[in-house]
Amino acid sequence: MSEYDAVVVGAGPNGLAAAIELARAGRSVLVREAAESVGGGLRSGELTLPGFTHDLCSAIHPMAAASPFFRTLPLSEHGLEWIEPPLPLAHPLERGEAAVLRRSVDETAEGLAADAESYRTLFGPLVTSWSRLESAVLGPLVRVPRHPLALARFGVSALQPAAGLARRRFDGEAARALFAGLAAHSILPLESLGTASFGLVLGTTGHAVGWPLPRGGSQRIADALASYLLSLGGEIQTGAPVVSLEELPAKTVLCDITPRQFLHLAGDRLPPRYRKALQRFRYGPGVFKLDWALSGPIPWTAPACAQAGTVHLGGTLEEIVASERAPARGETSERPFVLLAQPTLFDSSRAPDGKHTAWAYCHVPNGSEADLTEAIERQIERFAPGFGERVLARSVSTPADLERRNPNLVGGDIGGGSNELRQLVARPVLRPVPYSTPLDGVYLCSASTPPGGGVHGMCGYLAARAALRAGGGRTRRDGSRGA
Ligand SMILES: Cc1cc2nc3c(=O)[nH]c(=O)nc-3n(C[C@H](O)[C@H](O)[C@H](O)COP(=O)(O)OP(=O)(O)OC[C@H]3O[C@@H](n4cnc5c(N)ncnc54)[C@H](O)[C@@H]3O)c2cc1C
Repeated sequence: MSEYDAVVVGAGPNGLAAAIELARAGRSVLVREAAESVGGGLRSGELTLPGFTHDLCSAIHPMAAASPFFRTLPLSEHGLEWIEPPLPLAHPLERGEAAVLRRSVDETAEGLAADAESYRTLFGPLVTSWSRLESAVLGPLVRVPRHPLALARFGVSALQPAAGLARRRFDGEAARALFAGLAAHSILPLESLGTASFGLVLGTTGHAVGWPLPRGGSQRIADALASYLLSLGGEIQTGAPVVSLEELPAKTVLCDITPRQFLHLAGDRLPPRYRKALQRFRYGPGVFKLDWALSGPIPWTAPACAQAGTVHLGGTLEEIVASERAPARGETSERPFVLLAQPTLFDSSRAPDGKHTAWAYCHVPNGSEADLTEAIERQIERFAPGFGERVLARSVSTPADLERRNPNLVGGDIGGGSNELRQLVARPVLRPVPYSTPLDGVYLCSASTPPGGGVHGMCGYLAARAALRAGGGRTRRDGSRGA
């Protein structure tokens, strides 16, 4: 029985985005979510002590701010309020200094001494042409670009390994370290082809749109998306895991899940070649995450760190390169590169008066059981002596904990699959319509499809557009699909 035009499996940002786009096109949509609340990678909760709200996964949202799809949604009318910290990013170095990513390219460059001109030359043109680049960066790479020249200019640098680009472009420790930290969001060794693209895109978004965080926690983004979907007539069932595609009451199905789960849900309906291709899909390293309830703000030595929503802890380019090499070799780093967010400095609603939270993680081998608590806290103490005395409580999340909360985080992989160059192009499989599957009316729409990980909703939006183009997801009274 086709009760709905479409069913979406999973209420992560991409599932909700897909459902919204279908509902906006007049389709009846049901979202089935396994967990008791919507959000997937956007959930927040009291992980440590009562009154302290922590982001279980995503915390800082440059890609949401940059998302051409999110821009079209009235999310502020549904309770979402963005907060922009004075500085997007600080990267402390020794001697109490810090490299700082500011909203202005010029002001960022001025802080990088001898590398000021090189920084301006690298990022200036990208920021200027961001409005032309964004649809290419936040969409499938396998399609005719709308602005080929701007994309070609970006591609020349973006395809390079980040470590090489940083060494060639910059002479000083600060600029090199700043770029390495940005590129480490690729979760790949920084000698890998294409890792520069992550540094360039994240740096550019810092200038072009900022790195904001939502008041009240990332859950608020999910709640706003869900509220807007309901206002369009969409329906959501939580606590409703899908175990087989056969059980779904629609001919059009969009799956906000990764290839491994899709193989289970589709059973033996998939042709062997496609099945094999999905089995070859590679997951990336996992993450080891800590959340703290703190008695006060983190006592950074470098003053700029107290103004930044995100702090990258890892020291020099060479240290970060060594740290990011480890997970790919099946090792953990003694001095891991740590990504830290400190939301309560800018959003007091998330903790009791005068108290604070912090969120941090480092990359570890996929499925690693290693305990990186001490290694992460050592990196914080290195740049903020006395941090440990402010810890009231901590919550530890291993890759297995993350996957237990959300099966999309396979082995603790937060990006929906490895970001190696091949998988940026063929994600998860090279097909003329990237989101389609060999099953009629069934689409993938998670971060395992283009443009990949991060909270931007573009995978869901583009998958929904593909479904609408292919027959509209509308179910006729006789049960067949039609435009
Ligand atoms: C620790 C961590 C930190 C991160 N930090 C950031 C950050 O700061 N900024 C950023 O932009 N991104 C960040 N991310 C990445 C971001 O959260 C993800 O890229 C994003 O959530 C992917 O969205 P999605 O919709 O594809 O999948 P998900 O958000 O994973 O949602 C998938 C949903 O599907 C549900 N589901 C799975 N299987 C089934 C089933 N069989 N039936 C029904 N429902 C099912 C899951 O429960 C889940 O709710 C982080 C992720 C993690 C884990």
